[in-house]
Amino acid sequence: MTAGHFDALVVGAGPAGSIAATVLARGGARVALVDKAKFPRDKACGDLVGPRGVQVLTDLGIPIRGAIAVGDMNVVGPTTRRVRLPCFPGRTYPGYALAVPRVDFDAELHEVAVEAGAEAFIDRAAEPLWGDDGLSGFSLSTGTELRADIIIGADGASSRVATAADLVDRTRVLWGFALRAYVDEHVDLPHIVLWERTPWRAFPGYGWMFPGPDGRANLGLGIGTLSSREGAATVARDLPAFVRTLRGLGLLGSAAPMRTLGGWLKLGMVGTNPARGRVLLVGDAAGLVNPLQGEGISQAMTSGRAAAEAALADPARAARGYRAYLANTYAPYHSTTAPLHRALLPRPRVVSGVARVVTAPTVGALVAPAWSIFWNDLLDGAQPTVPRAVAALAARIGRIATAGGQMRHWFTATLGEGSYRSADTTRRCPDALDHGSA
Ligand SMILES: Cc1cc2nc3c(=O)[nH]c(=O)nc-3n(C[C@H](O)[C@H](O)[C@H](O)COP(=O)(O)OP(=O)(O)OC[C@H]3O[C@@H](n4cnc5c(N)ncnc54)[C@H](O)[C@@H]3O)c2cc1C
Repeated sequence: MTAGHFDALVVGAGPAGSIAATVLARGGARVALVDKAKFPRDKACGDLVGPRGVQVLTDLGIPIRGAIAVGDMNVVGPTTRRVRLPCFPGRTYPGYALAVPRVDFDAELHEVAVEAGAEAFIDRAAEPLWGDDGLSGFSLSTGTELRADIIIGADGASSRVATAADLVDRTRVLWGFALRAYVDEHVDLPHIVLWERTPWRAFPGYGWMFPGPDGRANLGLGIGTLSSREGAATVARDLPAFVRTLRGLGLLGSAAPMRTLGGWLKLGMVGTNPARGRVLLVGDAAGLVNPLQGEGISQAMTSGRAAAEAALADPARAARGYRAYLANTYAPYHSTTAPLHRALLPRPRVVSGVARVVTAPTVGALVAPAWSIFWNDLLDGAQPTVPRAVAALAARIGRIATAGGQMRHWFTATLGEGSYRSADTTRRCPDALDHGSA
């Protein structure tokens, strides 16, 4: 058995972990980066990196080979009407996303982390190691023991680190499950399909078909399952029917989907305490996936960077600094949209009605710009335009409508949301702050 002590132990080398490890290593920290998979490895995903994620790559000087830029998105309503959601550049993010297969993207980020000086371990974080002040490291499945001053849990939705550190309240977590497949078909824009398996009973999620490099599209179907982790079979059962819908819409010809792969998403932050003591959870481990549209890569990278910056600024107060960052940036959005997600999911008729209204010709054209900003969580840092003002109004109404609910209470109690200074529009981690508890 070998053992090692590091400044930081990062468990999981997806976008969250590799970005955290890169920032830490570039900042001079000794970093262990552990992943159970050998890279390149595949990951179920729609492969779209949103504008905030693109900005992180630019900030850190990480070019992604083979990625293609995509801008506006089409939303297809239940009546097959299409609304084009424009992708505006903000003050703190660009006006485009990147499409890149995760098998390539994650391998590139992993390589960048190793080049920055992180020591890579291909091994599973198995058993927690305890010290006087709680979790101090992990023993890996091959027996190696790794301890560190800071432990970053970047190990995805079913995080071992979060469970070991007792940071998850299973009764509150909002889960989703999605399946993706590749298909040799060109599609010009990303398409989100507000699908109905039977008329006026909205599917409890949505389907998509996104462009990819080399004329290979990524299609898939995802659902919300609230606090249950059952439902994966439903998605697998419904995927062929959804593929037929794509053919009917003229988006897909006769090409057959291949390499189908599924995965769980932990949505809306609620139920996961993101930091305590020396443990900081980032990305899916912290449940940062957008509960309205399922995006999680940008959040993974921004939170990975923020956790690393908090650790570099002051390891002893890293949990406090990181929680303040989340309270200022993601919590206001998630504490509004997670209750909305929970309220709408069991009401398929209401969702069907809303989907028809927002994709109706005149209404759709009117609401699309603000809709694009709001549901992609791009309000903070948006240009001061009319669509931004409308999106801000929608956010304010949402906050009023969800005030006083149990979920909001959870955010206030867990993160002290609302008790920190106002949001930093660059979404960088504030240095150690004056408020909040460690
Ligand atoms: C089908 C599907 C489609 C999606 N589409 C999109 C999309 O188009 N755009 C978007 O932004 N988001 C999308 N998401 C969400 C997105 O995939 C995640 O939010 C993102 O991968 C989170 O990154 P992460 O680094 O936090 O976790 P992950 O990418 O899940 O990485 C976690 C890593 O931890 C490792 N690991 C886990 N346990 C251990 C352990 N015990 N020891 C060592 N290593 C461990 C895993 O091997 C993995 O490499 C989608 C998700 C699904 C399932």
